[in-house]
Amino acid sequence: MNVARIASLVALLTACGPSASKPMTAPSAPQTPEHPIVQAGAPVLRARAAAVDPARIGTAEIQDLIIKMVAAMREAPGVGLAAPQIGVPLRVLVLEDTDERMARLTAAEIAERERVVVPVRVFINPQLRAVGDEKRTFFEGCLSVDGWAGLVERHAEVEVTGLDEHGQPATMRVRGWPARILQHEVDHLDGTLYVDRMVTRSFSTAEQVKERFAGKPIAEVLAVFGL
Ligand code: ZN
Repeated sequence: MNVARIASLVALLTACGPSASKPMTAPSAPQTPEHPIVQAGAPVLRARAAAVDPARIGTAEIQDLIIKMVAAMREAPGVGLAAPQIGVPLRVLVLEDTDERMARLTAAEIAERERVVVPVRVFINPQLRAVGDEKRTFFEGCLSVDGWAGLVERHAEVEVTGLDEHGQPATMRVRGWPARILQHEVDHLDGTLYVDRMVTRSFSTAEQVKERFAGKPIAEVLAVFGL
């Protein structure tokens, strides 16, 4: 076990709240990302990622991977990331949601999406099961399909079990947006992208979604697409 790396990871995962996010940068000064996200078309996004041997979780390789994934997710910024999205074909996902990342949504949109603050979590070799039969449909995007969005139906509630960053058993049972994030990220580990599940006629640029549907109730959005 690499104690120093685990200690630095623990510090990263516990100390960095929303206020520790990167400072705002001027929109006129785009920068090359420090952690580029693999884009659709790359074979790593279409392969089934390999399970991590639990004995390897404490190694520098896996601890560094987790640190890099959290950094990439925050840099993007996104609310979840799977290891294949940074080119690593292993069954590891991270998720985190913050008030800052939902700041562009109205209170009604946050409530409709059941979007809540989720402190950063790590799942290694996650297994997902749906809880109940309820479904929800919302626009969803992906850091690996940059600039686009589509309506995707997901289970309203799920339970994920797996191992955490210490190799300890971990379970998360959640509803709403975190449930959507987990379904999206576990899909990545099986080589599935949201475009495989979306209502294809809803495929839109992120710009159009923002311009036309921001602040609108989902019933109104679904009606536009004849759903
Ligand atoms: Zn994605």
